[in-house]
Amino acid sequence: MADPKGFLTTPRQTPARRPVDVRIQDWREVYTEFGRGELERQAGRCMDCGIPFCHNGCPLGNLIPEWNDLVWASDWRAAAERLHATNNFPEFTGRLCPAPCEAACVLGINAEPVAIKQVEVEIIDRAWAEGWVPPQRATAAAAGAGRRVAVVGSGPAGLAAAQQLTRAGHAVTVYERADRPGGLLRYGIPEFKLEKRHLDRRLVQMLAEGTVFRCGIEVGVDVTVGQLRDDYDAIVLAGGCTVSRGLPVPGADLDGIHQAMEYLPLANRTVADRLIGAGDGRSGPAVSSRPARGPAISARGRHVVIIGGGDTGADCLGTVLRQGAASVTQLEIMPRPPERRSDSQPWPTYPMIYRVSSAHEEGGERVYAVSTQEFVADETGRVRALRLVDVVPAGRGPETWGAASR
Ligand SMILES: Cc1cc2nc3c(=O)[nH]c(=O)nc-3n(C[C@H](O)[C@H](O)[C@H](O)COP(=O)(O)OP(=O)(O)OC[C@H]3O[C@@H](n4cnc5c(N)ncnc54)[C@H](O)[C@@H]3O)c2cc1C
Ligand code: SF4
Repeated sequence: MADPKGFLTTPRQTPARRPVDVRIQDWREVYTEFGRGELERQAGRCMDCGIPFCHNGCPLGNLIPEWNDLVWASDWRAAAERLHATNNFPEFTGRLCPAPCEAACVLGINAEPVAIKQVEVEIIDRAWAEGWVPPQRATAAAAGAGRRVAVVGSGPAGLAAAQQLTRAGHAVTVYERADRPGGLLRYGIPEFKLEKRHLDRRLVQMLAEGTVFRCGIEVGVDVTVGQLRDDYDAIVLAGGCTVSRGLPVPGADLDGIHQAMEYLPLANRTVADRLIGAGDGRSGPAVSSRPARGPAISARGRHVVIIGGGDTGADCLGTVLRQGAASVTQLEIMPRPPERRSDSQPWPTYPMIYRVSSAHEEGGERVYAVSTQEFVADETGRVRALRLVDVVPAGRGPETWGAASR
């Protein structure tokens, strides 16, 4: 067990965010440094409660109480090893995961949960800084017995599969249709949530371990599945999902209306190109020469409406604010969630509660319980306005909603 009285004596602390007026001038991550001593005290809040529900909350089954105990005892290197036992890429999850482990933390029943996600990211950041994350090459014996494997897609799923298979001694080639590996880590999630240097550092490790990347190649177009079947013993499909959901209302095809995953990749490419142009060495490994597609869509000086109040909407919000939008309104069809768990979402479930992401702190207005009925054009065919209706419970069950006249 970590500190036997830690959960009684130490309040939960997480790192501060950089001031809004400073951080929206750049694309860097929003959080400030967290002191090592404070982090050890935070890990010491873990009660090692016997039946760690956090294991169950974490989709990876991370061994959370074990690494909390090791961090509290200042044995960070052993903590990093335990962390890697279940997680190939803690630097991604420690930054991006919505932390269902914390929602399931036993301490969270009647107090603030352990800051698990912060402990996770600090362990791996220190491990990289100390050089404790070297490439792990398969033994000669394992490599000799290996098979040839093609992995289609280089998002986190494809990368994790490729790394595990390579380390087990297989000859792995990752096929990626984009010009750089990473999937949504690279072209969906903005730099201010995950600086791409973390991704590139992992890719360098994977290259050193022997994973081969072939970017700018779309399986099914540039190379057929038949060719892959001929050349490999096994194929892993990790293509993710890039099919977006449209809004089938009048005017949905007007100029100025974009899907999030049409807008964000172009915005992320622009940021990446700027960082490379600035000569900071972030060009990244395994880049293909295939040119980026399409010019960026800029929100500079625009009045922007974001339809959808979830995380992707928040990523769009932070991006349009950094691009210099004149105003931003985010629409959500559901009512504003409660500040605390409702009785229908008890511990240890992951509750729908009111959350303020870093992007929400930075600007824009959130409007709840509205649905878009129509997009209205100006004389040039560009979207000028949205026709909305209020949405209220129709009284036939928790998921039944109907339009109300204003
Ligand atoms: C804007 C946005 C923000 C998000 N933020 C978060 C977050 O903060 N936290 C979180 O936990 N999750 C977040 N997610 C969800 C998370 O990114 C996804 O769950 C995750 O990336 C899925 O991983 P994947 O490897 O399955 O697929 P992807 O990341 O989509 O990767 C699939 C890859 O396969 C490639 N591919 C597809 N077909 C082919 C083909 N035929 N040939 C070659 N390559 C191909 C694609 O180009 C892509 O690079 C976010 C998603 C979006 C869209
Ligand atoms: S933050 Fe996510 S990945 Fe990390 S321990 Fe919690 S649930 Fe698991």
